[in-house]
Amino acid sequence: LGRHINDERPSHFDYNGIRFGQDTLNIFAGLCAVDTLEHVELTMKALRDQGQCCTRMGAYKPRTSPYSFQGHGKNCLPYVFDLAGKYNIKVIAMEVTHESHVEEIREALYQTGNATGVMLQIGTRNTQNFELLKIVGRQQDFPVLLKRGFGITLDESLNAAEYLASEGNRRVVFGLRGMKTNMGDPHRNIVDFAHVPVVKRLTRMPVCIDPSHAIGMRTGSPDGLLDIMHATAQGIIAGANMVLVDFHPVPSKALVDGPQALSLKELPLFLEDVRIAREAY
Ligand code: PEP
Repeated sequence: LGRHINDERPSHFDYNGIRFGQDTLNIFAGLCAVDTLEHVELTMKALRDQGQCCTRMGAYKPRTSPYSFQGHGKNCLPYVFDLAGKYNIKVIAMEVTHESHVEEIREALYQTGNATGVMLQIGTRNTQNFELLKIVGRQQDFPVLLKRGFGITLDESLNAAEYLASEGNRRVVFGLRGMKTNMGDPHRNIVDFAHVPVVKRLTRMPVCIDPSHAIGMRTGSPDGLLDIMHATAQGIIAGANMVLVDFHPVPSKALVDGPQALSLKELPLFLEDVRIAREAY
């Protein structure tokens, strides 16, 4: 993926009509976890109404506790992909933690007519799951969003990206999502968006920021909304190419990470802030 600064291969790729590159910006606002069909539809409709064509939808959720909601898995894929077609959503970022998830996604896309595309997400807990990286690296039909590991060096995470590339998949976006420390309070993690230009200098990958997981916040707190928006602006001004951000029609009802989700009412304000930050870049 280009740990060679002078390599002349392009720093962009196209997928399902959308360009991902080191000089583009794509917003992936959406549900951390799919909970109900109604919430998926409300979210996609709001995105369409705001001119958006990408989203995030979690079906397979890696949870700290085995007793927490684990995601609907393949059962939600048919309605997620159908609704994506209805609302003209072109690319959905969706985490996978096992080879079978990739097969289920491919099958469901095929069944629903392939109108939408999926960017396979590898979460921070799996950044060094080398067997998963190799498997996803062999999926030439899907681009990948690889999140940085929360407790390893940047160099180790960049090597994880090389696992994907060495198996043949070079359509990789590198995600910054905050680093775990014992000093994160009041936010969940330490925001690492100052590393956006560093990764862009060192590699050809477009860089994604995930302000929701970097910050984590209390629902309903105006300060929490500002914290997410400031972190987003910071990352965009630093040159981020993609923003993965949690929204929910009713954050208090979200089954996963509700406290960090913005409400759909806040979507226009958030997007306006994104636009201003991008102009400032
Ligand atoms: C997510 O994006 O849903 C997620 C769990 O993120 P991370 O892997 O960064 O914790």
